[in-house]
Amino acid sequence: MASPLVFSSYSMSTASSSSVRPRIRGGGSSRGGGAFGGGRRHPARPRMQKSKSSLASRRRGIAATTITTRGGEGSSYHDGDDAANSSSSTLTTTTTTTTTKKPSSSSSIRVGRAGGGGKKKMADLSESSSHSQHSQEDRDRVTLRASLIVPVVHGEVIDAAAARADLNDTKQQTVSQVRASLSRLEGQLHEMIVALDGATRAQAEQRQMEEDARVAEAREWIAAWRARGAARIVEDLATHALPPGHGDDDENATQSEQGEEEERPTPKRRMRVAIIGAGPAGLACALIMANLRGCDVHVFERRKDPSKADLNQAFVYNIDARGRKVLELIDHEDGELMDDIESRSVPAGGKLMLKVATPDGTITPSEVTFRSKRTKSLWLPRQALVDALLNAVKRAPRIALHTGSAPVVKISDDLTTVTMDEEKGVAVKPHLIVAADGARSATRQAMEDADGARGHFEPPVMRASPAANLKYKVLVLSDQFGFVNDAAEVAKDGSSMISVRGAVTDGPSRMRLGLLPVRPPQRRTANIIAYDDHVVWEHMSTVRGAERYLENMFPQVDWSKALEPGELDRFVAASGGRFPTPQAPNRLAYVPPPHRDSNKRGDEECVAAVLLGDAAHCFPPDLGQGVNSALEDVLVLDEALEHSRDLYRATSPVEIGRYAATRYRRKREPDARALVNLVAVGYPWQYSQPGRIQSFRTKLWALNYLLRAALHRALPAWFWPACFLMVQNYTDESYGTIWRRAQRTTWRIVVLLVTVLGAAIVSVMRSASMFGAAAV
Ligand SMILES: Cc1cc2nc3c(=O)[nH]c(=O)nc-3n(C[C@H](O)[C@H](O)[C@H](O)COP(=O)(O)OP(=O)(O)OC[C@H]3O[C@@H](n4cnc5c(N)ncnc54)[C@H](O)[C@@H]3O)c2cc1C
Repeated sequence: MASPLVFSSYSMSTASSSSVRPRIRGGGSSRGGGAFGGGRRHPARPRMQKSKSSLASRRRGIAATTITTRGGEGSSYHDGDDAANSSSSTLTTTTTTTTTKKPSSSSSIRVGRAGGGGKKKMADLSESSSHSQHSQEDRDRVTLRASLIVPVVHGEVIDAAAARADLNDTKQQTVSQVRASLSRLEGQLHEMIVALDGATRAQAEQRQMEEDARVAEAREWIAAWRARGAARIVEDLATHALPPGHGDDDENATQSEQGEEEERPTPKRRMRVAIIGAGPAGLACALIMANLRGCDVHVFERRKDPSKADLNQAFVYNIDARGRKVLELIDHEDGELMDDIESRSVPAGGKLMLKVATPDGTITPSEVTFRSKRTKSLWLPRQALVDALLNAVKRAPRIALHTGSAPVVKISDDLTTVTMDEEKGVAVKPHLIVAADGARSATRQAMEDADGARGHFEPPVMRASPAANLKYKVLVLSDQFGFVNDAAEVAKDGSSMISVRGAVTDGPSRMRLGLLPVRPPQRRTANIIAYDDHVVWEHMSTVRGAERYLENMFPQVDWSKALEPGELDRFVAASGGRFPTPQAPNRLAYVPPPHRDSNKRGDEECVAAVLLGDAAHCFPPDLGQGVNSALEDVLVLDEALEHSRDLYRATSPVEIGRYAATRYRRKREPDARALVNLVAVGYPWQYSQPGRIQSFRTKLWALNYLLRAALHRALPAWFWPACFLMVQNYTDESYGTIWRRAQRTTWRIVVLLVTVLGAAIVSVMRSASMFGAAAV
């Protein structure tokens, strides 16, 4: 039996606020949704970043101070904040008679700091006696500040985390990386102290206030992270240990946004991204990376011509508010994408016309009303979406599309390459690999191989589903598709959904076709979805058998016009596909351990790789979330890159990739797992699964669905509706949140049922005892 995508027939999405953050062409975007920028989510991080940034600004200024001639009375020293604002050297010479003044003598300040494991480490700070006009009190204050910050950051956090966490090899390496990062921070602090000491008294006082504030911030930061537990601290540090000098404070944000054109990364520093797979996820990701993040993007697609429709995959998608967010984001740069998409799609408004065509020739129209919130979704054939994205790719600078064969992806901790066939001679050494090559991702396999004995990708998250392993084939209807004696030609109205009822409506051979809305001249398609033993496969194994089967099962359809010549031959020859078991790998990114030898750091080592779309999570299309979640993955990756955007200008793209991949993984893995769970229970019984047990379970599912709907209506604060409805209606919520709500509701229903049952038993026993007493 076949019920083609009943799920997506009803998956009208909410028109929830899919507000698009304003973007600035050329690699920058507003900081609206960023968690780093958004201290809302992690209040402590921006402050820490701010400190780093300011430190870095000073570091630049200090470098100038140490090599530049200092001009006695006439020289003016611009403080670090000025330097940060202007991004220029911090030392401005105002006289022409400057002379180099060497320190006549030097003394040493020994700064004690608590190193790892409680060891005391001492650092010598050279102090120029030319600044001897500064009092000992000033110097002490500076020293005190340094000794205050360094142990707070270095000793306490790392040691607390490392001591309490049970660290494996990888985490140990992470800790080493963090230590290295913080060592650099210490270096900057020392330089800052030298600079502070060289400033005038007034400046020193000013700086003292600033530094005191930073110390307080650092303390808050540490306290906040401490509260989150040792293991989390280590991981957070690994994620957020940005190379020094790349802050995230508002001041720098404004500056970088204003000066975006001038500060675009030079090609040398631009990040090279290799995207494997030109499906919806791969193409959307390429556009975001190239248009918004200014990366050089190479897309590898094994098909020769991705614009040629693959009729075996001619599904009609319902792009809901989740998917739209990323398309609108691309459109903000591209400007033509949404027009292109909307010209090919049917908008899903608050109401949908459903026409039921029964075998006796009756066609009954009815209007299905959805909540007005759901006005933002679009019905769109897969190929139309891919075509629109391909057009945008052609318009985009910096995207190279390589087609015709599967690339060889070699991931190793030293050197990662993506090569196409020798004839074309395409070879890329990317900084970031994006695996968007579908459910059977070869790139995911390469990542797992590179991970090797570390085994991070295992075990995969898997849930059994009654829809798993069902077989499907796609039948493409012609533009002449219609019903026998249908004067009104109802089938020609592409904006309506049609349910074509089969002649057999009961038993294991029952069948119906669900035709989703499409905008002409695009064709309607019918997905034949059925379990292995269904008679449909036997009948449709030959062209003649298929003709007879369709004519007998759906006599109301004028089959002489409904199919293009040759379509049945293609259908019969096609191998079709099978719905996968809902699953996701344990990890969504591969981030190799950093090189211990810092000299080895370069642009061609330690590449990071991430999984997107079906490569990251695949499942039967019960909830119509395949493409929407794939597009949402792109958004999460983009946000992870947005947080590293300051790094684009000044540091290695390798580090940007590693940071973004780590953040992506941490943000998206909970959602991928939740998605797997949601799909397993959401609406898996829509395919008329055969057998008594299955039929009983279908009824149980329906009962559960109705119970949740009723409880939600009665007590909305306590009970949430069924997963299927939540996924469709709460598109602003993460899959993780939706799954948690579903679980909470389950527990509350259990408690409610137990309470009601207990009360019923008690009352029965009471009445039985009263009856007994009365009888006596
Ligand atoms: C019958 C059916 C109906 C569906 N209906 C819906 C629906 O209504 N709504 C919905 O949201 N989702 C639906 N889905 C799911 C949806 O199609 C997928 O979730 C979505 O296509 C995932 O996009 P993707 O870009 O990650 O992967 P894909 O669309 O699979 O794209 C992968 C691309 O990578 C290419 N590729 C593969 N291997 C390699 C390689 N080694 N090298 C280079 N290129 C490679 C492929 O040729 C392809 O172009 C349906 C799926 C099925 C099977």
